[in-house]
Amino acid sequence: MNNNGIEEVRARLEEARSVAVLTGAGVSAESGVPTFRGAGGLWRNYRAEELATPQAFARDPALVWGWYNMRRETLADLSPNSAHTALAALEGRLEDFTLITQNVDALHAMGGSRRIVELHGNIWRVRCTGCGAVRENRDVPIAIPPSCDKCGALLRPHIVWFGEALQDDVIAAAYAALERCDLLLVIGTSGVVQPAASMAAAAKGAGAYVVEVNIEATPNTTVVDQMIVGRAAEMVPLIVGVNR
Ligand code: NAD
Ligand code: ZN
Repeated sequence: MNNNGIEEVRARLEEARSVAVLTGAGVSAESGVPTFRGAGGLWRNYRAEELATPQAFARDPALVWGWYNMRRETLADLSPNSAHTALAALEGRLEDFTLITQNVDALHAMGGSRRIVELHGNIWRVRCTGCGAVRENRDVPIAIPPSCDKCGALLRPHIVWFGEALQDDVIAAAYAALERCDLLLVIGTSGVVQPAASMAAAAKGAGAYVVEVNIEATPNTTVVDQMIVGRAAEMVPLIVGVNR
């Protein structure tokens, strides 16, 4: 156990005026969110990399929507865990706080976080392939093929797929927070998917104290000031100083 590290991080958090957090799939692991790569990662013999692409959607939108319906059904039953709620408590203590997430599961918002930058979109939003309108849609299952109530064109998930660029305003909001924060927490991300993989180094370069929470070492581990080894749902409440 890394108790010295936890004390140090708690003290730094007390002093910090601006805090940013970057989360990945690991923060949702203890809510039961299935990973892409682990057991159960296949759906009808397709891998996520074969479904979450603009090419797959152009070829067979009903197939891709079928997969999203399966994921929506799974996520609809899940709840935020103590890592999500501890981050919401931390936000409540700070005037300047930004939570940057790669997750599309919306569990941070359910856990009470408000200032969220969703790098990869949100599974409960749809976007029109015709007029570009973005809407919340919580139907489980969504009727296939879903169409826009404004222009009638096909709707797609409001999610950044493999091979697609992130939205400029989303990237800008993330980097602004990384550059102004005194402290960055990097939680449950493998640090291999860009641009999130460069964000710990960006914050560090801009002068922040950077802390990683993960069950194992990642490429970020060599960059950070403090590595806390453990499960997010256990370690984040300890760091933040809230009861689980
Ligand atoms: P990843 O699956 O590549 O890495 C997850 C990281 O979490 C690993 O480093 C692992 O060691 C760590 N981890 C696992 N369990 C943990 C726990 N209990 N506590 C702390 N850490 C734990 O995920 P990523 O870095 O987010 O990148 C994967 C990509 O897949 C992203 O683009 C993301 O959008 C997408 N994705 C999203 C979800 C979701 O919305 N919840 C789920 C799967 C994949
Ligand atoms: Zn439309």
